[in-house]
Amino acid sequence: MINKFTLEYAQQLDAQDPIAHMRDEFHIPKQANGEDEIYLCGNSLGLQPKRTAEYLNYELTQWQKLGVKGHFSGEFPWMPYHEFLAEESAKLVGAKPIEVVCMNSLTANLHFMMVSFYQPTTKRHKILIEEHAFPSDHYAVESQIKFHGYNPQDSMLLVKPRDDEDTIRTEDILTIIEEQGDEIALILLPGVQYYTGEVFDMQAITQAGHNQGCMVGFDLAHAAGNIVMQLHDWNVDFAVWCSYKYLNSGPGSVAGCFVHEKHHNNKDLPRFAGWWGHNKETRFEMENTFIPMQSTEAWQLSNPPILSLAAIRASLDTVKQAGGIEVLRTKSIQLTAYMRECLEQELGDKISIITPKSSKASGAQLSIIVYGDVDGKAVFDAIEAKGVTCDFRHPNVIRVAPVPLYNSYQDAYKFVNILKEALS
Ligand SMILES: *Cc1c(COP(=O)(O)O)cnc(C)c1O
Repeated sequence: MINKFTLEYAQQLDAQDPIAHMRDEFHIPKQANGEDEIYLCGNSLGLQPKRTAEYLNYELTQWQKLGVKGHFSGEFPWMPYHEFLAEESAKLVGAKPIEVVCMNSLTANLHFMMVSFYQPTTKRHKILIEEHAFPSDHYAVESQIKFHGYNPQDSMLLVKPRDDEDTIRTEDILTIIEEQGDEIALILLPGVQYYTGEVFDMQAITQAGHNQGCMVGFDLAHAAGNIVMQLHDWNVDFAVWCSYKYLNSGPGSVAGCFVHEKHHNNKDLPRFAGWWGHNKETRFEMENTFIPMQSTEAWQLSNPPILSLAAIRASLDTVKQAGGIEVLRTKSIQLTAYMRECLEQELGDKISIITPKSSKASGAQLSIIVYGDVDGKAVFDAIEAKGVTCDFRHPNVIRVAPVPLYNSYQDAYKFVNILKEALS
């Protein structure tokens, strides 16, 4: 049997990788010695595509030359700018272009979605989330419950892994929905769990929720640009995501939002409205009657920050150049599997990986726990000093994200080698 844990083998895999050239489309941060960092932190902040500066500079120049006229002239007029992002954003989540819009930030979108899709009654007032959801999601849910005059103690239903397990079983989520569904107003779960990297079965959860009359929404912060989804066909009610993790649109860049088209014409849905959600044909007539657009754009409030949308356009064009999310996912599965295999072969007695092994239940992330009395943070500091950028989550998890757009098989090999040295 050949030993896959060699630099030569990793180089061979890179040579066979049909999208290896995409790495050149990105700025890779450098170590002090001038070599590329081993950047495995794309689940936190994705790297900058080289074309981003060009797209941003184009809009800066338009503003210099045209002033206010830039809203209606140039190749990408600002007034409909968000429309230029719809088609490619929709492909990432498996939606129709009218079902997605880039607006606001992630947590803000979560709140705006709950304004529309969390309508508690005395009988049905609960929100089902994970016990250890990303804190922002937890706070948003808790505050919405209080805002409606309910008590989070009674109205927050928390699902967690079984004792001695790290990830949540789909069957356990489905059981809770079956048993308590008539009290659940909203199910809000991640597409990909940020800590463990577990992919949730969004289709099964949505189906189970709808069987019980619940609304079902997903936070796709770690799923968008990472895994393939079919939100429209799965009949998901709404979803939100950020664009700065796997979507490489820069720190704090504008977020994404999906609302299924079945809700677009529902006049009974409450909504916090703004002028950018008003019918675009009559928006500038400045009348006082709000006429919502017949699309997810109806949830827009303000005219958006164009420089941020330009960065998203750069990112989406980069994904398109690579061949789309399916192509990325194919490499992602292989690259993550290679890294996992090397870790298990070389360090199986020193670490464990809490991310599920099956490619159906995991994306471009491995969450590694170091065994025994070893101080996880000290290991993290040691590998960082050797050029690895990843992240550490208390108490002892090291998260690494081999991103198919810009990470190589050599990155995976080098990371395992450096971790091995740090642990020996
Ligand atoms: C990254 C992330 C956030 C961050 O929220 P912002 O509003 O973009 O600051 C929220 N929730 C989840 C699940 C995340 O992974």
